[in-house]
Amino acid sequence: MPAQNTITDLIQLLASGTIRVVDLTRTLEAETPILQLPEEMGWGKSLPFSLEEISRYDDRGPAWYWNNLSCGEHTGTHFDAPIHWVTGQEHEHHATDSLPIEKFVAPAFVIDAVAEAAADPDFLMTVDFVKAWEAQHGKITPGAWVLYRTDWSKKTSNEDYLNMGEDGGHTPGWDPETVKFLSQERDVIGVGVETVGTDAGIGPTQEPMFPCHNLMHGANRCGLASLCNLDQLPPAGALLIAAPLKIKNGSGSPLRVLALVPEQ
Ligand code: MN
Repeated sequence: MPAQNTITDLIQLLASGTIRVVDLTRTLEAETPILQLPEEMGWGKSLPFSLEEISRYDDRGPAWYWNNLSCGEHTGTHFDAPIHWVTGQEHEHHATDSLPIEKFVAPAFVIDAVAEAAADPDFLMTVDFVKAWEAQHGKITPGAWVLYRTDWSKKTSNEDYLNMGEDGGHTPGWDPETVKFLSQERDVIGVGVETVGTDAGIGPTQEPMFPCHNLMHGANRCGLASLCNLDQLPPAGALLIAAPLKIKNGSGSPLRVLALVPEQ
């Protein structure tokens, strides 16, 4: 099929609602939850999101409204580039400005672990779990995102969302073998999660520490954190548009994540 016809078809399918656009992005605001790390590890603190008003149709600027904004790169719904982790530092094209842009438009497979995450906040997705999902929905094709649906984004308070105990966070994540499997055997672009970061709350105590960061970025793969509305996606067949800000040598950035979904 000629490419021009395909684009014309896509435009028409979007206009008619046959293909729907789903927003997988949380609203950025001062209350946006950010990753809590043990202070004794000396890892410093990522700035929360904030806006400072420059003017709003007033004596500071009579006809215009605008703000200065500040936040850590890893705030709210955000992209993790391979350069984020020590294991990913030697790769080429591994930062927000140098990643191949083709990765920013890619298919998504959505693995549902809602029941498991509800039963056990420390649930770690295993290779067998992924294979059982594939037996039902089909094999994950190369060059796709794997999205981890937990409905965690539906938590209504930051306290429940971060679920911090005296011993650290308790939110679902990955068995290290699953991260290796998805990068090596399924050649994913990366994984996306509904929780505050791509690793489990118990990530600091896993081996290796923060396995998704360690092994995904070590394999030059990416991450998406704090996604929402994964319940509106089919297990397979959605197209993700997820392009980070083009920050020179950026380790990640907040972004708008959109999914194109065939209407049922
Ligand atoms: Mn991050």
